[in-house]
Amino acid sequence: MKIYISGLYSGTNPQPGVGIARSLRMAYPESTLIGVEYSNRCSGIHWQDFNDIWLHRPWDELNLPAYAEQIREVLDSGALWISGVDLEVIWLSDIFPEGHPNLLTPSSNALQKVAKPAITGHIGLPVKIPTFVSTEISDWDLHAFCRQNDWKVWLKGPYYEAFRMRSWADLQDSRTALSRSWSTNDLFLQAHVTGYEESVTLCAYKGELLSCVQMRKRDLTEMSKTWAGDVSEVPEEITVPLRKIIKELNWSGGAELEMVRDADENLWLLECNPRFPAWIHGGTIAGHNLPARLVEGATGVKALESSSRGEEFTRVVLEIPVRKEFPLPPLPEPFGGGIGHSLKHPSGLLGFANRLHGMSLSGHKANGNGNGKLVKDDLRAIPSSFIEDISGFDFPQIDTPSFLFLEKTTNELFERATRTAANLSTKDITVTNAYSMKTNPDARIVQTAYESGFLAEAISPLEVNKALEVGFKPEQIILNGPGKWWHKEYLPKTPIHAVFCDSTADLTRVVEALKTQELKAKIAGVRLRTPNITSRFGVPIDTPELFNMLIDSIKTLPRDCAFGIHFHMASSNVGVGQWWHLFESMLRWCSSIEALAERRIEVLDVGGGWFPDDRQEDSDERFARAIESVREYLPHVTQVISEPGKALAQPSMALAMRILEIQDFPGEAKEVVVDGSIAELPMYFFHPHRILHQNGRTGIWKSVGRGRTHLLGRLCMEHDVVASNIELPTDAKAGDFLIFCDTGAYDRSMSYVFGRG
Ligand SMILES: *Cc1c(COP(=O)(O)O)cnc(C)c1O
Repeated sequence: MKIYISGLYSGTNPQPGVGIARSLRMAYPESTLIGVEYSNRCSGIHWQDFNDIWLHRPWDELNLPAYAEQIREVLDSGALWISGVDLEVIWLSDIFPEGHPNLLTPSSNALQKVAKPAITGHIGLPVKIPTFVSTEISDWDLHAFCRQNDWKVWLKGPYYEAFRMRSWADLQDSRTALSRSWSTNDLFLQAHVTGYEESVTLCAYKGELLSCVQMRKRDLTEMSKTWAGDVSEVPEEITVPLRKIIKELNWSGGAELEMVRDADENLWLLECNPRFPAWIHGGTIAGHNLPARLVEGATGVKALESSSRGEEFTRVVLEIPVRKEFPLPPLPEPFGGGIGHSLKHPSGLLGFANRLHGMSLSGHKANGNGNGKLVKDDLRAIPSSFIEDISGFDFPQIDTPSFLFLEKTTNELFERATRTAANLSTKDITVTNAYSMKTNPDARIVQTAYESGFLAEAISPLEVNKALEVGFKPEQIILNGPGKWWHKEYLPKTPIHAVFCDSTADLTRVVEALKTQELKAKIAGVRLRTPNITSRFGVPIDTPELFNMLIDSIKTLPRDCAFGIHFHMASSNVGVGQWWHLFESMLRWCSSIEALAERRIEVLDVGGGWFPDDRQEDSDERFARAIESVREYLPHVTQVISEPGKALAQPSMALAMRILEIQDFPGEAKEVVVDGSIAELPMYFFHPHRILHQNGRTGIWKSVGRGRTHLLGRLCMEHDVVASNIELPTDAKAGDFLIFCDTGAYDRSMSYVFGRG
């Protein structure tokens, strides 16, 4: 009996070849095991259970048609082939579309059914698939996906590799890097599932499930790969549907279903690998020799029984002698001028992936739009009020780059916020909006806030003054933040609505100022620092000592002011779900403060930090429930204040710029230089912008979709790239207008004068 086994890489992210050989050696001591590898840097080629090693050029250099012929001869001669490399499995399915009795790998049709992320073949198993989206959808929708999943998301490549995305900048960088290394834009984002990892591994021959086993990871490497595990029988609720699926897919070979079990005992299926896992010999140790069962099923030759040596296994690192015929290669040259050596992907798998893409194999079409919606960019993705407002400008007269105030859009947003506040108010609790002045202090927006019945929320006496100039009365102003004594000469003489202290030191100062009437306020309160979410603002409360300090300080607040509590944490950064979780936990903290400080909490100010879309889509109902919870936990609250900034300001302005130059590269990305820059788009690194293009001749507006064009700013700065992976209409010309929407918040207020002489 002769068996070829491929995939011998044995680093900390190993392939299964060595484990398969160890298991088969126990079951068939007399068999000839041939290790197949594509790099002499894979240490598994020195493992003693292999009778011989068949070493090839790396995948990216291999003559694939000739190699396919050699494999056919091997199989025809009666030898078996067990692959431990996903890409090799995919390639073989294309070389042998009808299969081969001695080739122990699945067909291309079967592979397609288990391709991630949708894994359509899972139907019937008691598992769920974590939600995902293809990165081909618009940036706007990708950002929304991240917020909705609390920025606990993974960017995954078509075959291997997954990276945790914590921010928009992360996502942009990793998307570019992954796309480049796998030469595809077909990546996907998937929600993280918190829980313990476990897997079911199986072997099957021609649709018959021969054996399966369950393994729970009990220790992990830095890359979350198995280092130790426990092995058990697969429960019937999985084996019954699994048997059916294997039959339907006519599966041959090994497979592993990688899953996560969450706190509610739900199983989430992450991946289905079309081969044995690297820990496969751990199963053999526990008495489940799956490689042997597979060979037995394919040949009918009885394997030696191996008994269980316990249900748990672990790994160690071993030194083994190097085979005489494959002496160690020299280390590659150090990077020129860099640090270290490039030892990644020694067998050329990346290059192979690129060749497979070129061949567009039937076996593996990434199915990116499974449960994730695929949204093509078009004008419908842009709110109609934007288009209406933008159409009103006399473009030839505009000196670019220039911010456009979208008046109708702004009015609608503020009107809606006022209506929502009125609807949310109950007979006990008034819901009030306070516009965050710092987000964009443009007088037109502040004026709209005033006319819409908002309060003004200021973080400095200068901002207070601006609000007063626009028309706000002192009693309509909230003073917040750590800088309230900067230019205190602007503080009004009559009482403001509320002041919130940012620290206990600040509170001491405020108490003093209230006593001397330097500051007058109807409500005096504190901002709480969010426990568990890092913040530099507010009074910390997460140790008993700090909490006591806070309670003692609160007791010093004058009794003729009402008492209030404020917290602010941007849901756009921490995610919508996490924000609501924080809100609920804040209510509990407040309730303790109320009891211990013996001060009734009459005002609750929940801050701002909402991304515009998150405050519009069906969120009113959630807020209504929140007001209910406030009443329950804090029965003395009569006013709930919300401090929207960017939720209203971000859509209120757009940035107009002109195309200066278009540089085409044959077959490559296009580079377009514009007269705008990151000096006008400082939020480029934090959130996407929807972009419109106007054809200079016809005046027709089109929205800009995804593609391979990069928009470069006018500044002579390496990082001045204002948009990546976009596609301009083919008729775009120098001189045409581009409009960046969603620039009315911090893009406008934090833009700076640069490169203008
Ligand atoms: C900045 C700020 C806001 C508004 O935040 P946005 O992210 O613009 O919505 C609200 N309240 C306070 C105290 C702030 O500092």
